[in-house]
Amino acid sequence: MATVFNTLKCLFAGLLLLTVTGCSMNQNYEQQPATEPVIILISLDGFSQQYLGKYPAPHIEQLIAEGVIAESMQPAFPTKTFPNHYSIVTGLYPGNHGIVENNIYDADFDAIFRMSKPAEVTHSRWWLGEPVWVTAELQGIKTGTYFYPGSEADIKGVRPSYWQAYDGKISNSERVRSVLQWLALPKTERPGFVTLYFSTIDDAGHRYGPESAQVKAAVAEVDQAIGQLIAGLKAQNLYGQVNLLLVSDHGMAAVPPEQVIVVDSLFDSSKAALSLWTPEIVSIFPKAGELESIYQQLSAGLPASARVYRKTDLPDRWHYQQSKRVAPLLIIPEPGWRLMQQSQYQRWQARPNLQAVTGSHGYDNIAPEMQAIFIGHGPAFAEGVTIPSFANIQLYNLMCAILGITPAANDGDPDWAQQLLELKQQP
Ligand SMILES: [Zn+2]
Repeated sequence: MATVFNTLKCLFAGLLLLTVTGCSMNQNYEQQPATEPVIILISLDGFSQQYLGKYPAPHIEQLIAEGVIAESMQPAFPTKTFPNHYSIVTGLYPGNHGIVENNIYDADFDAIFRMSKPAEVTHSRWWLGEPVWVTAELQGIKTGTYFYPGSEADIKGVRPSYWQAYDGKISNSERVRSVLQWLALPKTERPGFVTLYFSTIDDAGHRYGPESAQVKAAVAEVDQAIGQLIAGLKAQNLYGQVNLLLVSDHGMAAVPPEQVIVVDSLFDSSKAALSLWTPEIVSIFPKAGELESIYQQLSAGLPASARVYRKTDLPDRWHYQQSKRVAPLLIIPEPGWRLMQQSQYQRWQARPNLQAVTGSHGYDNIAPEMQAIFIGHGPAFAEGVTIPSFANIQLYNLMCAILGITPAANDGDPDWAQQLLELKQQP
């Protein structure tokens, strides 16, 4: 048994250990073992893997040099914000955790979930599975979320000990200051799991496209917040003692203005009971008996840059079709294209800056532009190591292993987490 395990371990280490740069950790802080493990999960919304090394980010680069970086982290399909944030903290594919889109219809509730509807976002009925803060609280570890999708709902009757209703106007530096204050609490009150969330890079990517000077500036701005966090942790003798997990939910694709597909002119929309529209996914719930008719119209009418899927024909690799909340028909464009209704298109044609490239995400999760980032830093992680790309559903087991708690059922592979942590022990 031990031999088999060691063989597996070697195989895995061979796969995992791409490069070791041999950096040594900064020794300016105390090297005492933390009594209890602490995780700060930092979400940099919309930080494309393609931004690394392209846009200067000295503090993030410091964490990379002293920690573990993945070549990329693969988001789940659809590559949208709420589905992927919730996959990261539950270890479940969106098809299993219920947040299948940013806009969701549930036939049993006969209700629509939208990010802009606080009454639904805070309603526990949408959030399936068990986020890591619930797992931790149920096993006696306090948690704090300075913004995270799902953290405003009482999932399984549990909320983080410390949490904030989302308010995008609260500055990044205020968020960092508040988290540092949580970490300065007496040990019995201090959270062992904390989140931070920054939307600055996603906002700039949508508005100006991933190649813009504005995204470069947004990366610098968020890097400053990371610098503020590092300085604050050093001041509290916690730098190198707490585990920092820097992640993003998805990347960002450039969307040229001419890449538009007006979709509702291509099928008889009176045959749909409900359609949910976003530029990257249109979900169609046909009236009884009309599915095949709509499917055939769209199959014939859509250009090569978009495709209509019957739910039953969705690729298995998306692990998506098992959810009752996924629509019977989905229209999905190629990366860089946007779907529109005629009414939207008329307004859109009247916009200023007709030639402006914008940015978007939500597309196929294997698209290079959609890939996200993972950086791990702190006592659980090896130093100066690059690991191969992995799926974000692996992180829940990793966080549970670091915290020493038993994970709920999930789609990740517990061996993946163990073997990443074992890199720390290797010479
Ligand atoms: Zn996002």
